[in-house]
Amino acid sequence: MRGVHKSFGDLEVLRGIDLTIAPGEVTAILGPSGSGKSTLLRSINHLEPVTSGLISVDGEVIGYRRDGDLLHELREPEVLRQRTAIGMVFQSFNLFAHMTALENITEAPRRALGVKRTEAEAHARELLALVGLSEKAGAYPRQLSGGQQQRVAIARALALRPKVLLFDEPTSALDPELVDEVLAVIRSLASAGTTLVIVTHEISFARDVADTVVFMDQGRIVEQGPPAQVIDSPTHERTRSFLQRVR
Ligand code: ADP
Ligand code: MG
Repeated sequence: MRGVHKSFGDLEVLRGIDLTIAPGEVTAILGPSGSGKSTLLRSINHLEPVTSGLISVDGEVIGYRRDGDLLHELREPEVLRQRTAIGMVFQSFNLFAHMTALENITEAPRRALGVKRTEAEAHARELLALVGLSEKAGAYPRQLSGGQQQRVAIARALALRPKVLLFDEPTSALDPELVDEVLAVIRSLASAGTTLVIVTHEISFARDVADTVVFMDQGRIVEQGPPAQVIDSPTHERTRSFLQRVR
């Protein structure tokens, strides 16, 4: 992200974000409520078009097609194609209620990528195994716990073989006893070398899994660096007071 600004009317929510996410690394984004974390994630997959600045993923400018020095705004089908390369997992699972776990996972590959049913299902079963839910392929969301639903949502995001997977407070809506099973799945993706960007309030989890921790406040990145620096010896007062409050 280079010089990214985003406003909603008069409210400037992102105020000049420069951020590089290295492939295969885990980036944790921390910061108080309202600091722009969700907007930043949503801008990466163009759910929120930015007001100015550029975001590129693996050489492609998000929302634009490069033509020499010129950028042409993409139309909806091309935006959707770009979006399939960027997985997103939300706080509130958002599974399709009328579909089984297996169907939730195969829907997007079949519809967006035209993957054949048998192939999509074979991949979905591998992903269910990865998130520890091999037994639940035929279960509907209402038959699953919150933690299980979130694990299906992670499998669903992985089904599109994304270049990067974005998590927006993936455990915030869960009962405390269900948090660990979801964090364990994210941890296993991290060790497998998946590129992850995780907005979280789970500070000890961020310290364990993140290569880089980014602290945001009021639409800006206040500091970033390895967890040992940002979490254990923050240099900015705002980072320190935030960490004291959430611990
Ligand atoms: P965070 O995820 O860090 O809590 P958000 O990115 O959700 O922060 O929000 C940052 C600010 O932008 C907040 O003040 C929020 O009210 C505002 N905001 C977010 N989305 C919209 C929107 N669609 N329209 C207007 N304001 C919004
Ligand atoms: Mg948010």
